[in-house]
Amino acid sequence: MILILTGAPGAGKGTQADLLADRDGFRKISTGDALRNQIKKGTEIGLKASGYMSAGKLVPDDILLSVLKAEMEAAAGQKILLDGYPRNVNQAESLDKICPNGAVAGVVHLDVAREALITRLSGRRVCSQCGSSFHLTLNPPRTDGICDRCGGSMTQRPDDSAEKVAIRLDVYESETKPVLEFYKARGLYRKVDGNRGTEDVYRQIHAHVVNFAD
Ligand code: AMP
Repeated sequence: MILILTGAPGAGKGTQADLLADRDGFRKISTGDALRNQIKKGTEIGLKASGYMSAGKLVPDDILLSVLKAEMEAAAGQKILLDGYPRNVNQAESLDKICPNGAVAGVVHLDVAREALITRLSGRRVCSQCGSSFHLTLNPPRTDGICDRCGGSMTQRPDDSAEKVAIRLDVYESETKPVLEFYKARGLYRKVDGNRGTEDVYRQIHAHVVNFAD
């Protein structure tokens, strides 16, 4: 069973994916995290991906497909939650090819207004060690600049600068939004109001997930 969590950059997919993994037993696959790991390790995939990522653009589909296949193999037999894939229609079609028919149980879209996305992304800070996400004003760590979870130092993702955020939001509009129509046509699309608080958004998602599982 595969659940797809979709939405613009900054919509809260990562936060909600972590909650769904903790509370509902999903195995989270974040293609953004997987690519950042490859960059950290200095692999060939990481080298190929890093330029696109720091420019705020999509990494080419063939690279993503190999990353996705490896992650899916490692998660075989588990309930999978996809965070950040598919990001265009070609990727949605590739997912169909590598999964059995009907494996995608549902697609939940975290819908957030553009101005709120800009505020969230520009104030976001992530832990350089464990990747936990905080926000300068909306969700600050207890000690300035220090991760609550592991004590690591906080940093700003290079693609969270104002210029890169604008590019990423435009890429979302032109390339990822058509994916919503792709799944609407199959009756798998559900929208939740992502402007609300974390727990409220989780409850909305969870209500859909229970129905998907039925
Ligand atoms: P994220 O952490 O999901 O915001 O992803 C960060 C960056 O990784 C994106 O801006 C893209 O450059 C790249 N990326 C992650 N997932 C994909 C994907 N499915 N297709 C293409 N690029 C991706």
